[in-house]
Amino acid sequence: MKAIYHDFLIVGGGPAGIQAGILLQNKNLDYLILERTNAVGAHWNNYPRHRSLISINKRFTGSDNAEFNLRHDWNSLLTTSPFQKPFTEYTDELYPSADVLLKYLKDVVVSHNLNIKYDTEVSFIRKTNGLFQVTSGQTVYECKYLLLGMGGKPWFPNIPGIDLPEIETYENVSLDKKLFENKRVLILGKGNSAFECGEYLANTASILHFVSPRQIQFAWNTHYVGDLRAVRNNLLDMYQLKSQHAILNGSITNIDYDPSCEKGRFKVDFAFSLTPEDPVNTIYYDNIIACTGFKYVDINMFDPDTVPVQIDARPALRGKFPKVNADWQYSGVENMYAIGAPMQTVNFRKNAGGFIHGFRYSIKTLVDLIAEKSFGIPYPSTKLSQYNISDLAEYMSSRMNTCSSIYQMYNELCDVIKYDKATGNFTYYKDYPLGLLSKKFKAEEILTFTFNFGCRGGEDAFTYVLEATPESPEKSIFIHPVIRSYDSSFGIKEELHLLENLESTWDDEELHLQPLRAMLRRSFKMHAVITEQRKEKVS
Ligand SMILES: Cc1cc2nc3c(=O)[nH]c(=O)nc-3n(C[C@H](O)[C@H](O)[C@H](O)COP(=O)(O)OP(=O)(O)OC[C@H]3O[C@@H](n4cnc5c(N)ncnc54)[C@H](O)[C@@H]3O)c2cc1C
Repeated sequence: MKAIYHDFLIVGGGPAGIQAGILLQNKNLDYLILERTNAVGAHWNNYPRHRSLISINKRFTGSDNAEFNLRHDWNSLLTTSPFQKPFTEYTDELYPSADVLLKYLKDVVVSHNLNIKYDTEVSFIRKTNGLFQVTSGQTVYECKYLLLGMGGKPWFPNIPGIDLPEIETYENVSLDKKLFENKRVLILGKGNSAFECGEYLANTASILHFVSPRQIQFAWNTHYVGDLRAVRNNLLDMYQLKSQHAILNGSITNIDYDPSCEKGRFKVDFAFSLTPEDPVNTIYYDNIIACTGFKYVDINMFDPDTVPVQIDARPALRGKFPKVNADWQYSGVENMYAIGAPMQTVNFRKNAGGFIHGFRYSIKTLVDLIAEKSFGIPYPSTKLSQYNISDLAEYMSSRMNTCSSIYQMYNELCDVIKYDKATGNFTYYKDYPLGLLSKKFKAEEILTFTFNFGCRGGEDAFTYVLEATPESPEKSIFIHPVIRSYDSSFGIKEELHLLENLESTWDDEELHLQPLRAMLRRSFKMHAVITEQRKEKVS
C-alpha cells in the first residue's frame, strides 16, 4: 500500500500538537496531526486526577496589551483566528478545571480548521532515504519532518513490590473518599500530583505520609512551575501544625502485601530511621498511592537501525526524557523534533518550557527555525532602519515591558540585535535560542537581551533581603533584563543587568534607559555612533 505523504507529521493532538499545527498552517506548510483518540486534549480527560489545573488564569492585569496579558494567561495557545477567544474569557476561576481547557482546545481546532486525523495511534517509526515512515494500524504515513508531541506515560521507580496490583496509582486512584475513611495512607512522591491526592484525602484519611528520596522543592523558591505549588501544599501546614499527616525524606527498600494483617495490608520498609528510637524502620499502611511522575520517551516505538533515539543521561532526568539538542531536534536523528512537555530538557527546571505558557513559544521558534532551514522562509526579524541608539533603547524597553515569550522562557530564548555595518541599520530578532547563537550569528556584531533571575545563594525566597541598588543592579534577584555583548569566539564581553523592578517595568530614564543607551553605544561604538550622528543630521 502506498504511504500517505505530508511534509510534516505531528504525532499527538495535545496542546503542543495543536500549537504546531496552527503555526505550520500560518506558513502554508503541508502538515497532518495524528491523534490516538477520537478528540484532541486526551491528556486532560484524566489529568489532573482531581481536575484543577495548576496553570494560572489571571484575567485582570491592568493592561489592555494582548502580549503583556499573555504573561499571566498560562493556558492560551498562540492563536491567530479572529473567531478564537483567549482562554481567560472561558472562566473566571484562577485555577480552572481541566474540563475548561478541554473545551478551549476543541474550540481552537475548530476555529483554525486544523488538519487532524483521529483514532490514529502511531505504533512504529522508521526512516528510509531521508523520509520517516510512521505506522498506525495498517496505514503508513510518510514525512520529511516529524514532530513528536505524545506527552508522557506514568513512570515508576525501581522498588521491590511497587508492581503489586493493590497499589493504586495517580492515574487510577479512586475518587471515592469513603474508601479512605480512617485509613493509613502512604503516598509515594512529593510533587504536585502527590500533594493533589493528599489534599483530596486530608479530611478523610487518618494518616497520610508522603515519601521520596528528594526534599520538597518549592516553586516559589526555584521559580520552576513543576515544583510544588502553593495551591497544592495545604498538607505542609497540617504536618507542621502536628495534625498526624507527615512528610518523609528517604527511600523505601521493600513493600509487602498481606490482606490479613491487622496493622495494615502493606508492610513498608524504609531505608532511614523514622524516629531516633526506632531501629526497625517499618510502617504498616492500608493504602498506597504511587504518584511518581511521567516518562517522555518510549524507545520501543522506533526502529533502532534507522531512528537511533538516545536517552538523556543527566541524573536529574532519571532516564525519562529523550536527548534533544538546543533546537529540540532528537540528538542523532535529523528532522525529528520533540514538541510540548519534553522540550523542557533544553533548560531543565529553569523556566516554563514543560508547560503550555512556555512551550507555546518554543514551538513557535522551532517552526520558524525549520521554515528558515528547509523552506527558505527567513527567520522573522524587524529592520529598524531609521533607528538611532536612543530609538533602539526605547524599542528594547517597550519589549521588556510587554513581551511574554522571553519572560516565560527566560535564559533559553533571547532577543538578538544585529548591527549591519554596510547599511548602518539594526535588525531585531525575537525569541531566538541562546544555544544556537554562535551558529547563526557567527562573525556578526550582536547584542542579546534575555530575562534572568539572580541567585539568592540558597536562601528562602521570603527571607531574602534585597541588595540590589542603582549602583549594583547586577545584584538583582527577581526577574530582570540582562543585555550581553560577545567577543569573536562568542564569549561574553559585557553583561548589563537592569535593576529589578516591583512592577516589571524598565523605562525609568536614569535607572534603565541611560545605562541601556550607554551599553548600546559602547557595544556598537565603531559604527553606530557615526550612524547615529548621520541619522540625527538627516532628521
Ligand atoms: C498531572 C499533570 C498536571 C498538569 N497540569 C498542567 C497545567 O495545569 N498546566 C500546564 O500547562 N501543564 C500541565 N501539565 C503538563 C502537561 O503535561 C502539559 O502542559 C501538556 O499536557 C503537554 O502537552 P503535550 O501536547 O506535550 O502532551 P499531551 O497533552 O499529553 O498530549 C499528547 C497527545 O498525544 C496523543 N498520543 C500519545 N501517544 C500517541 C501515539 N502513539 N499516536 C498518536 N497520538 C498519541 C495523546 O492521546 C494526547 O492527545 C500537567 C501534567 C501532569 C502530568
